[in-house]
Amino acid sequence: MSRVSGLVDAHCHLNSERLGGPVDAVVAEARAVGVETFVLAGVGPEEWLAQRALVVRYPGVMFPVFGLHPQLVAELSAEQVADGLTALDRELAGDAPPVAIGETGLDAYTPERRDRLALQEDSFREHLRIAMRFDRPVVLHLLRATGRALEILREVGVPPAGGIVHSFGGPPEVALEYVRLGLHVSFCGTLTFPQSRRLVAAAAALPLDRVLIETDTPDQAPHPHRGEVNRPALLPLVLVALAAARGESVAAVAEATAGNARRLYRLPC
Ligand SMILES: [Zn+2]
Repeated sequence: MSRVSGLVDAHCHLNSERLGGPVDAVVAEARAVGVETFVLAGVGPEEWLAQRALVVRYPGVMFPVFGLHPQLVAELSAEQVADGLTALDRELAGDAPPVAIGETGLDAYTPERRDRLALQEDSFREHLRIAMRFDRPVVLHLLRATGRALEILREVGVPPAGGIVHSFGGPPEVALEYVRLGLHVSFCGTLTFPQSRRLVAAAAALPLDRVLIETDTPDQAPHPHRGEVNRPALLPLVLVALAAARGESVAAVAEATAGNARRLYRLPC
């Protein structure tokens, strides 16, 4: 592959305890292959702290996103979710607010999470309202709950600042519906799997100015690293798969996805 530079990993968890090595080594390895900017994804108040420490260590390189992940919400009481949302509000009103709100959304992957969908929906709605109030984009985690998620997005509205559907895994019609609602669609390692024909069709159908690439480190490692601990240095594999799906040059898709991420998250250039 020709050398690329300036790539943005639009969604990763570099504060994860499951990271495959010291964060400095993980970042150095990524930079060596042109991945230069990292948008961190928020799971809950404890992780926000860890993200802050990373952002202080990597100013202008890492950017924080704070929210209550639907998988975490599914394990909390309504009172704990309310406390988390109050803390989120406080962070946004503070000196160093996150660039976006998330992860939020709905996760119906397991029976346990399905049982907690009502609380997840309340939290999702409130995240959308907070994003509107503070004029921030949202980072959406939507798993096995597309119909309900679309209903909530139509009911409450997509924030004017937009948002991303992270780790998109659905068919082209759904991807295009997210774009119609004002969202960006972000592809991860699953796009590289040989059996991902439906995802390839979605990647080909979208306007170039609405697609993003991410690793979701430490999860979702691309082919041929499937099952390994993921890392931002593998982002170019997602880039190459996206360019191939669209029949466009790697250089053009590299520039477009990085520009899309910078505009959406309003990152300094
Ligand atoms: Zn994530």
